Amino acid sequence: MPEITKTPGNNEGVQFDFKTLFINVAKKEIADHQEYYNGKRHIKVKLCADGAKYSRGCNFCLFSFSILRDGVVNLSSSNIHVIAAIRAKEDYESLADEFRDIFAAINFYLDDPAITINGNTYTLEFFLCADYKLLLLIMGLKAASAEYSCLWCTVHKDDRYNMTLTHCPRSLSDLKGNGDFSNIHKPLLNLDLDHIIPDELHLMLRVTDRLITALIQTAKSYDQHQHRLERIRRAYKVLDGERIKNLIAAIRECGVYFNIYEDDESGKVEWPSLLGPDKLKLLKNLPDKLVGCQPPEMVPLTQNLWKDFDLIYSIVTSRMPTRHHQLRESTKKWINDYLDLGKEFKYGDFYYPDKVTPYMHLLCAHLSDFIDKYDNVKQFSCQGVEKKNDVAKVLYHRKSDGDKEEEEKGDGKTVGKKKMRR
Ligand SMILES: [Zn+2]
Repeated sequence: MPEITKTPGNNEGVQFDFKTLFINVAKKEIADHQEYYNGKRHIKVKLCADGAKYSRGCNFCLFSFSILRDGVVNLSSSNIHVIAAIRAKEDYESLADEFRDIFAAINFYLDDPAITINGNTYTLEFFLCADYKLLLLIMGLKAASAEYSCLWCTVHKDDRYNMTLTHCPRSLSDLKGNGDFSNIHKPLLNLDLDHIIPDELHLMLRVTDRLITALIQTAKSYDQHQHRLERIRRAYKVLDGERIKNLIAAIRECGVYFNIYEDDESGKVEWPSLLGPDKLKLLKNLPDKLVGCQPPEMVPLTQNLWKDFDLIYSIVTSRMPTRHHQLRESTKKWINDYLDLGKEFKYGDFYYPDKVTPYMHLLCAHLSDFIDKYDNVKQFSCQGVEKKNDVAKVLYHRKSDGDKEEEEKGDGKTVGKKKMRR
């Protein structure tokens, strides 16, 4: 194992020397899979960045790599080698400072992509996988809300919904950090954009966020509309509505704890954010329970929208997506169906062109290209890295609870109270 050192910036962080760690891992990989590497002098390296909030005001980011073999999808966390962990804000400057040594080592390999192990020379091919926010940061683009937030093309945000447009692709050489098309910094990695792959898990999480928001806002809007028709005089509370109540019940019937709250002062409607497994439960089970939760005339189209996204996501996450040629057409149809709900029914404003997000554009405009090129995108999933982050989170809390206990012992007054809580 190479030694651990502090990352070079002013934040807290630790790192391994990337080259030493990588060569150690590559030697073992070749020794463990001799047959594969006898026929192939080529090593594919998946770089993963994953940020997570460990507590309020405490953000960590792990940078890791794993080695990919053709035809194998191994997302186990034991296959993932953490290069560095930092406690810092997720912004360009922090990533540039803290991962400076690692980016320099990877850029060195990107310039001269070969290593020699036991007298054999292997070419190297790097991929970068992360959620959209981190991909934009690492490649020097503004946030996802910017005018030109697609990493792979220069579509304007007002045209993101338009499935008839041919999008003008970007390339690494376009990213000069001069402000053109929302590109405000130089990329931290000199990686071709067809080697930068969005994470399928984050795609599902963010698209289902949009679908759930649309259900809630439509139900609320319809309930308000009904109340107006009935000329009910009393002060109207949005969550009294029948559709909203039915929707909460339907989501709970799917085995997901859920509630919708209304802020007394602002009247803003809020609900807890759901984790991946809960969202998958809703994708499978909620569509059939939507009767009574939406305006009656919108139910069939809304059910289809959810079911079609579930089908699309099953193709996206398949290890051998046999129907990938259909993906481009079915995702385009899906966006158009989404917009049709806004054109035909005027409850709420969530099925409108300006509500088509960068993830939805990516799903429809680019994802099938990645599947065509690399057979599947499941191999690039950040799932295993998320598990590493979960383990790190547990260690962090154990350590910070331990530290608090030590402090309290020193204080002598709060020990009893603390132990009770634990
Ligand atoms: Zn695009």
